[in-house]
Amino acid sequence: MKTIIEPFRIKAVEPIHMTSREQRQALIEQANYNLFALQSKDVLIDLLTDSGTSAMSTAQWSALMQGDESYAGSPSYFRFEAAVRELMPFKYVIPTHQGRAAEAILSSIVGGSGKIVPNNTHFDTTRGNFEAVGVTAVDLVIAEGIDPSVDHPFKGNMDLEKLDKLLADQSDNIPLVVMTITNNAGGGQPVSMANIRATSEICKKYEKPFFIDSCRFAENAYFIKLREPGYADKSVKAIVQEMFSHADGMTMSAKKDAFSNMGGWLALNDEDWAMQARNRLILTEGFPTYGGLSGRDLECIAVGLKEIIDEDYLQYRIRSIEYITEALDKIGVPVMKPAGGHAVFVDAREMLPHIPALQFPGQALAVELYLTGGIRCAEIGSFMFGRQPDGSEKPAAMELVRLAIPRRVYTQSQADYIIECFEEIYRNADKIKGLEISWQPAAMRHFTSRLRPI
Ligand SMILES: *Cc1c(COP(=O)(O)O)cnc(C)c1O
Repeated sequence: MKTIIEPFRIKAVEPIHMTSREQRQALIEQANYNLFALQSKDVLIDLLTDSGTSAMSTAQWSALMQGDESYAGSPSYFRFEAAVRELMPFKYVIPTHQGRAAEAILSSIVGGSGKIVPNNTHFDTTRGNFEAVGVTAVDLVIAEGIDPSVDHPFKGNMDLEKLDKLLADQSDNIPLVVMTITNNAGGGQPVSMANIRATSEICKKYEKPFFIDSCRFAENAYFIKLREPGYADKSVKAIVQEMFSHADGMTMSAKKDAFSNMGGWLALNDEDWAMQARNRLILTEGFPTYGGLSGRDLECIAVGLKEIIDEDYLQYRIRSIEYITEALDKIGVPVMKPAGGHAVFVDAREMLPHIPALQFPGQALAVELYLTGGIRCAEIGSFMFGRQPDGSEKPAAMELVRLAIPRRVYTQSQADYIIECFEEIYRNADKIKGLEISWQPAAMRHFTSRLRPI
């Protein structure tokens, strides 16, 4: 059969609410043109993030009742730890309330002014956590990775030459190397096994720990199976195990590829770092067998980790992103190609060439998508990344709009509705206006800034 269907049926439904364009105009003004300030009840299709928005399975809902809420030594922790170590056999598994808490703990161990941490592309919270402890966060993705129109099977790959050179020049200042799979800020693009292996070898050469920011590890593994020679007949589970066999540690948001609504962890092999991490964890998250999570959350993650490597699910998952990407491409909407793992990325710089980068074409397009169809999505461009540590403004490498697709949540007809909204926007793209910031906070401005049309 050529139709790839949703490999599940719906057991509980959650109504979503229609609004008129006039209502949405008033709502977005009240929200100061920042989509994070909207109430979700006023959003019809919410593509702001795929984080924590997954639909849980019947098995996960029933596992909730197994949750043991003991302060210390809960069996839920041991089921969680076993599920993690089945895929990622690190010695120490430290639960946290979400991914950024794991990053904050890791950066508190390795940070210090003058330090440098390379990554293919730092995600915003990863960059934020490293910069908060004085580290310069450097992005070393391959050149293809920042050209939305270039087709390449592994656009998330690390530029190995640049990494080697940075390590040769700055070895003393580099406490570790991070690799983000899939490369979220760079378009949800995968990293090949060959690149993971080669990055690991370079790290060994310079005796640097190699950590994987692993939020979408299963999607990355499925891309390796589809696209990398030699992996077609390997199971996703075996591919996942091989990916992590090259690393010394990982940070994880269980809100992505663990089908959980909350959670995360830091896992690593180094005993001294693990001890420092647990001391920090006790201060900021909780005792090491719950780390900011309920026992029931740990149960959910344990089940989610088994479900996420199901290949029927991954086939449907990757195809559903590709389906929207292909349809938008056909209309003429400039999209990042090939399709990434968790989101459709629209190139707003190309779609709205009349809006300068520092008038945030991505944010302008995201606002228009809400006005047209009640769809909420996120800007990943100069609004998110434009402000420099010294307070000046610099255009980001790309001006993208990210339609993140929640896992197991929306149907194909809802995807068709999204596509139809884009048809309408595309016809009137030249009328869309840029935005300016009227107020912004000291850091991570895209969450809370206020904007107005120019
Ligand atoms: C989501 C995400 C994080 C942070 O995880 P949270 O659970 O949102 O704190 C870190 N890195 C990447 C690549 C992510 O996608």
